[in-house]
Amino acid sequence: AKRADERGYRLFELTMQEATQRRRLLEVDLRRACMREDFQIAYQPVIDSATGAFTGAEALLRWTCPKRGNVQPSEFIPVAEELGLISRIGAMVLKKACIDAASWPGHLDLAVNISPVQLLDPRLPQTVFQALEDSGFPAARLELEITETALLGNDEIVMRTLTELRDFGIRISLDDFGTGYSSLSYLHRFPINRIKIDKSFVQQLPADAGSASIVRAIAQLGQSLQMKITAEGIETDEQMAFIAEHGCDDVQGFLISRPIDADKIIGLFQRETSK
Ligand code: C2E
Ligand code: CA
Ligand code: CA
Ligand code: CA
Repeated sequence: AKRADERGYRLFELTMQEATQRRRLLEVDLRRACMREDFQIAYQPVIDSATGAFTGAEALLRWTCPKRGNVQPSEFIPVAEELGLISRIGAMVLKKACIDAASWPGHLDLAVNISPVQLLDPRLPQTVFQALEDSGFPAARLELEITETALLGNDEIVMRTLTELRDFGIRISLDDFGTGYSSLSYLHRFPINRIKIDKSFVQQLPADAGSASIVRAIAQLGQSLQMKITAEGIETDEQMAFIAEHGCDDVQGFLISRPIDADKIIGLFQRETSK
């Protein structure tokens, strides 16, 4: 048995070494991409659940590595956060997305994701103001998406940053709502304009009674706190019908459109505006 244990341990060590090696290579490629600003942005349109009209789009970071091909944000963003690269990458996203959105029709909003690490960086407001100034995109059409976990702890920095952004006319959305650990008291303590119901609930609709209750409850909560509600991850007509019926303002999901590149989204927006 001892020999089998040792063999097992050596195998485990080898797997660990491989994992460490793979991770190191990913870090090298990511640093290089960051230096060369080698990222793209895809845009996923958002529509009004009552009228079906576009209300704007969310910017989603894309990395096509020359060696690896497309790398998922869920794979490389945590690494970028750990390496301290996310503020630089985030600044790039803000700048490029504001430039792209500056040529959208004037009633359409832009949503940009902000990592919890970025939110703790005291330079964030300045980075956002600079992106707006450089692009001429109006503050009133920009929404920053933060997550519940970003509100935990570090109250003072986060409160100062969010207040500064709010005073400038920028809106704040709470992304992935229902999946984090934040208590509901955060909702009215911080200046938050919108709640985005996480797709894990939306995708169980309408069959799963638990998810249906959660979506209903979040929609009511949003109404009583005078926040807008977005449901994300809508893939079916049934989900769309449920959401529209239960007072969610906006919807987003593959049923409406997958994330598409900057040229395509402007085409989509212009076609609708000229209808
Ligand atoms: P998220 O902010 O919750 O973004 C929504 C994700 O759901 C996107 O995945 C989008 O492609 C996907 N999605 C949209 N509609 C549907 C649908 O109907 N069905 C399904 N199954 N998925 C749908 P993506 O682009 O892979 O991004 C994953 C996450 O990476 C984002 O989740 C966000 O947390 C993060 N992320 C993306 N771009 C950025 C960025 O610029 N900065 C930061 N900090 N995080 C980002
Ligand atoms: Ca988001
Ligand atoms: Ca989300
Ligand atoms: Ca997410």
